[in-house]
Amino acid sequence: MILQMTNVKKAFGRHEVLKGIDLTLNKGKVLVIIGPSGSGKSTLLRCMNLLETPTDGQLSLGGVSLDFAGGRKSAKNAVLEIRKRTGMVFQSYNLFPHRTVLENIIEGPVIVQRKPVEVAKLRAIELLRKVGLADKADAYPHQLSGGQQQRVGIARAVAMDPELLLFDEPTSALDPELVGEVLKVIRELAAEGMTMAVVTHEMKFAGEVADQVVFMDNGLIVESGSPDQVLKRPANERTRMFLSRLT
Ligand code: ADP
Ligand code: MG
Repeated sequence: MILQMTNVKKAFGRHEVLKGIDLTLNKGKVLVIIGPSGSGKSTLLRCMNLLETPTDGQLSLGGVSLDFAGGRKSAKNAVLEIRKRTGMVFQSYNLFPHRTVLENIIEGPVIVQRKPVEVAKLRAIELLRKVGLADKADAYPHQLSGGQQQRVGIARAVAMDPELLLFDEPTSALDPELVGEVLKVIRELAAEGMTMAVVTHEMKFAGEVADQVVFMDNGLIVESGSPDQVLKRPANERTRMFLSRLT
């Protein structure tokens, strides 16, 4: 098991955004998180890598366990350890604009992991080949399409060798014709056994790539199961409503 969350809550002041999340994710599996805007999907992902600190509950990632019960503060090294084991791909690609594609990808491995530059470069070129951008190593982000930038974003996250890769609506900012090339890369990573949690509104993709789908509403997981169960035969009325509105 890579990730286990038990009764995880997150409040911003008095506003409780996550109201007790229980979740497990096994190595090599893909979890897809769906649900309406504002239901807490991004906050849940951000709690997985401790970009947000839960206000209650327990989280364990790759064998590092943290207890947030009673607003307990966590040891800084455990927090850093968990961050190191996760990678995140955002809706907006967040590439450094004044650095080339290659420089963007080797930044983390060189600065954070202290890999030799030449080693990091070789790996970056291999990853660029994998995401279909071998010829763009020396390009700057503004010279690339949104879909290409997002593929660089994915290569950059993978370059850090995360045990768990998180995607927060990775295609929502893209023009429709660019969505496919990004989903293809994510599908390939999944097929290679990368463990991932993906927030998406692309239901067809979700059905193909997910081992497990959770539907969130109002800070809770309302329904959870196989893609067939949740997407095709939802038991919960709120899940049904949500899916029917997407058409
Ligand atoms: P989703 O990703 O499902 O759209 P979010 O996790 O972004 O939902 O947000 C869930 C709720 O948490 C929203 O009501 C949002 O306004 C609130 N929220 C998210 N981040 C913060 C924050 N940093 N401070 C205060 N409220 C926040
Ligand atoms: Mg969100």
